Amino acid sequence: MSTPNKPAPVTPVLTKRWLSPNSWSIRTYEQLEGYTAIRKALKGTPEQLVELVKASGLRGRGGAGFPAGVKWSFMPPNEDKPHYLVINADEGEPGTCKDIPLMMADPHSLIEGCIIASYAMRAHHCFIYVRGEALHCIRRLNAAVREAYDAGYLGKDILGSGYDLDIVVHAGAGAYICGEETALLDSLEGRRGQPRLKPPFPAAAGLYAAPTTVNNVETIASVPFIVNGGSDWFRTMGTEKSPGPKIYSISGHVTNPGQYEAPLGTTLRELLDMAGGMKDGVPLKFWTPGGSSTPMFTAEHLDVPLDFEGAAEAGSMLGTTAVMVFNETVSVPWAVMKWTQFYEHESCGKCTPCREGTYWLTGILERMVAGEGTESDIDTLLDICDNILGRSFCALGDGAVSPITSGIKYFRNEFLALCEKNRKRNPELVGAQPGVQS
Ligand code: NAD
Ligand code: SF4
Repeated sequence: MSTPNKPAPVTPVLTKRWLSPNSWSIRTYEQLEGYTAIRKALKGTPEQLVELVKASGLRGRGGAGFPAGVKWSFMPPNEDKPHYLVINADEGEPGTCKDIPLMMADPHSLIEGCIIASYAMRAHHCFIYVRGEALHCIRRLNAAVREAYDAGYLGKDILGSGYDLDIVVHAGAGAYICGEETALLDSLEGRRGQPRLKPPFPAAAGLYAAPTTVNNVETIASVPFIVNGGSDWFRTMGTEKSPGPKIYSISGHVTNPGQYEAPLGTTLRELLDMAGGMKDGVPLKFWTPGGSSTPMFTAEHLDVPLDFEGAAEAGSMLGTTAVMVFNETVSVPWAVMKWTQFYEHESCGKCTPCREGTYWLTGILERMVAGEGTESDIDTLLDICDNILGRSFCALGDGAVSPITSGIKYFRNEFLALCEKNRKRNPELVGAQPGVQS
């Protein structure tokens, strides 16, 4: 088995059909090897598929990187209750734009992946929960699902295998928290989306308290390629612990923003080459490896391998591989304030550290950016972050502090400079700051 430490050269896998004419139609999909993997998969047993995905090392592409095959193996072997597969297509992490483009360009790769994954987990109902604002995507998915039913890939006795599966495309209502898997399940059940206590994990008690697996779009769209190519082939891309290809969404001050497929472990330096470099040659100042919930990096981190281990070892997280690039014209405190306003708005209010903490963080940052902050505000920000991190009910709270703690870590001087301006305007504030003698 080949497990290179260096990423292999770029070979489009997940995006290989994206530029074909009418890439979203079943006709194009079938002409380009589409629906060949389910024929193989339905000839084998569910257990064989779980073992194949485990062997491939495929890790969840929604941000957390949990091994997909291991997650599938948590589903009970019996069918005392109905089993469900739920696709998390609620892509909401700031900067993340990979799942919606994937569903727009190649919806049948997701549908074929859903059929294989549902069969592997003995599910006969699959829900695709799509971000409500993405109406164009919901329409396209619904059209693709209809095509798949008409062609006999969905419904009763799929391809004469005796296996039945129904897929329902469900529109969310645009709440960021509904991307959290248990809040998503609440929302799917028709309730207000708020995270549930884990454990029990969804495999034990998920949708309608029945065994459920929640997987990201890109994770499931990778499965037909693994069935056709095999686990060894999949492991020829990426790194030993983070194998396979990945869609990096690159936005901000680059010449050609967009989606770029590359093996896991690719560096920002390489991604910038693919995206045509920094826009107008203005130098890089800071960037996120995986959305605003992942601590920011700077120009010092250009050669960090963007895989689950590499990003973590360098002090951040891979997250959703939403690479947001900022040049030196951007104020870090301002960007941090904008992200924090987002988290305050999207906090579901269930737990105190996040609900109250994001409110206070936003107020302090808005005051600082307005030029009315004091140096002690920096310590107060860090203190509030300390009280949110690890003390919140779900990952939103932890994510909310990432931009602030990393922004202050790398760019404390910019926060201080804002306070300095205020101090010059209001000299009476000097005595009010701890450690500063009037
Ligand atoms: P998590 O690590 O708690 O869980 C990841 C997955 O593994 C879940 O499906 C969970 O059920 C499963 N899991 C974990 N431990 C398990 C266990 N012991 N037994 C059974 N199953 C287990 O992470 P999370 O809170 O689901 O997600 C956080 C991530 O979401 C962040 O890393 C962030 O990058 C990402 N995120 C993504 C988006 C987006 O738009 N794609 C938005 C916000 C956050
Ligand atoms: Fe809700 Fe925030 Fe608590 Fe998560 S951390 S449960 S979003 S209040």
